[in-house]
Amino acid sequence: MKPRDRLRIAMQKSGRLTEPALDLLNRCGLTFRQSRDKLFCFGEGEPVDLLLVRDDDIPGLIAQGVCDLGIVGRNVLSEYQYTAGQGGPELAEWRPLGFGRCRLSIAVPQEMAYDEAAQLQGRRIATSYPGLLGQWLRERGLDAGVVTLAGSVEIAPRLGTADAICDLVQSGGTLVANQLREVEVLLESEAVLAGPQSLPTDERGDMIDLLLKRLDGVIQVRESRLLLLQPSRHALDAVIRLLPGGPQPTLLPVAGQPDQLMLQALCAGEVSWRQLEEIKKAGAREMFVLPVEKMLA
Ligand code: ATP
Ligand code: ZN
Repeated sequence: MKPRDRLRIAMQKSGRLTEPALDLLNRCGLTFRQSRDKLFCFGEGEPVDLLLVRDDDIPGLIAQGVCDLGIVGRNVLSEYQYTAGQGGPELAEWRPLGFGRCRLSIAVPQEMAYDEAAQLQGRRIATSYPGLLGQWLRERGLDAGVVTLAGSVEIAPRLGTADAICDLVQSGGTLVANQLREVEVLLESEAVLAGPQSLPTDERGDMIDLLLKRLDGVIQVRESRLLLLQPSRHALDAVIRLLPGGPQPTLLPVAGQPDQLMLQALCAGEVSWRQLEEIKKAGAREMFVLPVEKMLA
């Protein structure tokens, strides 16, 4: 087989991760022509194509070398390593991507007493994550029945097919609606860029390197704000002390106003109204908080 000279990234075809993953790739300068069947999307500018699949298939596609990278939940990646991927090549989490956040948790019926994990001994737990749950139980020396279900795990206790569940939780609304309460968190999850442990040594490796650099820039920028304000000279130290973290601010003179300065600072996160009000009180005016579009340090 002729080695591929284009990079191939697998992502979820339709689901929670689809929009944010595409948006992230677009921000990295990757655009795609969507084909009719929407399984394969040809990359227009860079030699990077997309494969749109069910999220559960992504780790396997990377392990088999069908795709070079994948955007998938940490929950799916870890579960694969404990089940279908056992004995196969180790996959690596190259970057956390900051969306699709959720946790894999054990929940019990609201009326069930629960103080410690030992109370799960001998119980039946319904889950779509038998690998992760099995590992968690083993680590605690617990022997519980793992009932593997493909979906609708949360109704298992009411149906009498399980005593507890182990499922993904985001806000907890689904649990409350099913009279369940969360008692243990097994895994904090978010979407990650997954790939093989070591990068290919050909041009695809160089492309991955470039993509990782752009990704780092995009992720950093997504949270960054540019703060512009005018402190009076005598209040400068007090104002600088109140600035949210980031590199040294830049100072410029203001034409015709010798007592005023223009200050520009890059902040690592959101700047709240309260922070702005405090900075103003310390002696600044004309304050602006701007989103950052691109950054190349
Ligand atoms: P398919 O298998 O068809 O690709 P799916 O039903 O398995 O889709 P989604 O429900 O779209 O997948 O979830 C995809 C990922 O989104 C999950 O694996 C998880 O990482 C993340 N996620 C974030 N919040 C939640 C949540 N509340 N419930 C389920 N998944 C969530
Ligand atoms: Zn799935």
